[in-house]
Amino acid sequence: MANMNPKKCPMPVQDPVVRSGNFSEVALGYTYEMAVEEAKRCLHCPKKPCVSGCPVGIDIPAFIQKVAQEDMEGAYAVLSAASTLPAVCGRVCPQENQCEGKCVRGVKGESVAIGRLERFVADWHRQHSEEKPVKPPFNGHRVAVVGSGPSGLTAAGDLAKMGYKVTVYEALHTPGGVLVYGIPEFRLPKDIVRQEIDGLRELGVDVETDIVIGKTLTIDELFEMGNEAVFIGSGAGLPRFMGIPGESLNGVYSANEFLTRINLMKAYRPDSKTPVQHAKRVAVVGGGNVAMDAARCAKRLGAEEVYIVYRRGMEELPARAEEIEHAVEEGIIFKTLSNPIEVLGDEKGMVKGIVCQEMELGEPDASGRRRPVPKEGCTFTLDVDCMIMSIGTSPNPLIRSTTPGLETNRHGCIVTNGDDGLTTREGVYAGGDAVTGAATVILAMGAGKNAAAAIDRYIKGKEQG
Ligand code: FAD
Ligand code: SF4
Repeated sequence: MANMNPKKCPMPVQDPVVRSGNFSEVALGYTYEMAVEEAKRCLHCPKKPCVSGCPVGIDIPAFIQKVAQEDMEGAYAVLSAASTLPAVCGRVCPQENQCEGKCVRGVKGESVAIGRLERFVADWHRQHSEEKPVKPPFNGHRVAVVGSGPSGLTAAGDLAKMGYKVTVYEALHTPGGVLVYGIPEFRLPKDIVRQEIDGLRELGVDVETDIVIGKTLTIDELFEMGNEAVFIGSGAGLPRFMGIPGESLNGVYSANEFLTRINLMKAYRPDSKTPVQHAKRVAVVGGGNVAMDAARCAKRLGAEEVYIVYRRGMEELPARAEEIEHAVEEGIIFKTLSNPIEVLGDEKGMVKGIVCQEMELGEPDASGRRRPVPKEGCTFTLDVDCMIMSIGTSPNPLIRSTTPGLETNRHGCIVTNGDDGLTTREGVYAGGDAVTGAATVILAMGAGKNAAAAIDRYIKGKEQG
């Protein structure tokens, strides 16, 4: 019998006051009973609109039905047939714009909590299953993967399952891409990512860290080493700045630098060797997930006041709804319809404030969102001692500049033929943020999956002909 409660079972969370002083996970996860009850809210719609909202096409009603029947391993089998990283996606996917945005229960109430159920099943499997991935027999072909973010890991996993010998080359000292250096521990515990990568190693994938492709080795050298194809999943890690006066003052960070010091190098621990400023008043410029993460990290480092400075309104914030809600609960102050125009410094060259222009919303722009326009004569100063820029990133030009024939567009993104990720170089495929610009984990995974299938077709095609 379906559970007709119009509301989702609430997610247990750490108390906002307590959690804004620690880096432990905010959302604690459903209990077994909560998961089974929530699963009974699914109506098993014959047309499965939720599935069309999932970029990797998980059979959502099928996995939810298994949860309702208390067959958690069966539910995991359905999830893992389509997704390599369900514990990650259950935590960080913008479900409200994807599967849950299409769920019919959302028409007269709240959608089924698909993401929370996905997280529950993946966690349950991790905690209860002893099953180890089985390494398939080597099919005689080698493939190199550049970058160990969700696109690279997905491509590597899918190719390894087909019998390819895959080596992943990662520039940083720890694999995982943004999942490790960007998204904070309180949203995505790093043990989860580590276990997913251990699973790939058990499938026979080699992960080589501290190798920068374009410096340590080139793409051409990867072919000379015996690889028959290369997948580039190098992300979009180059931060953008606004180009306003004062941006080079001490105390101005890119969100990438700030978050990498905290998440990858654990700057919040007393024994950490990387410095990060413990500022009292912090302004984070931007309104996406990255901005929310930077603001909430600054709060956890002890800042008394943390502002999100965003040029559009609350309605237009691009971050996941849950992250905005959690940031508000933790006391982050939203200065919307505000745009910095100058960073002010003191006599020592340290940030002492930012001058902001008040904005209002005009006509919709190309993205369909109303364009922010300056409100004439209206500016204000925000006294802050740290400013974190989170206005977007683009792909690093290193690989393009060292790979003859590899085309990029005017934003520096690698040009591909569309779905299967073939670039302008034979045998070289690409996907994830390196192709789309900064996007989402699940889109990066979808691109890795499509490219793995295309690489298999390419290599098998060469073998036959
Ligand atoms: P990445 O994850 O960026 O991985 C690329 C990897 O390639 C990196 O490890 C990098 O070091 C490596 N690399 C780069 N150049 C080289 C080279 N020359 N040689 C070798 N290795 C190289 N998405 C969501 O869906 N939900 C969220 O809540 C969310 N929050 C986010 C929070 C933050 C702080 C950030 C920064 C992003 C967030 N995103 C979120 C976006 C999401 O994480 C990315 O879209 C996704 O990680 C892209 O995956 P990718 O595999 O393309 O690249
Ligand atoms: Fe279940 Fe919602 Fe999908 Fe319908 S749309 S099958 S109710 S999850």
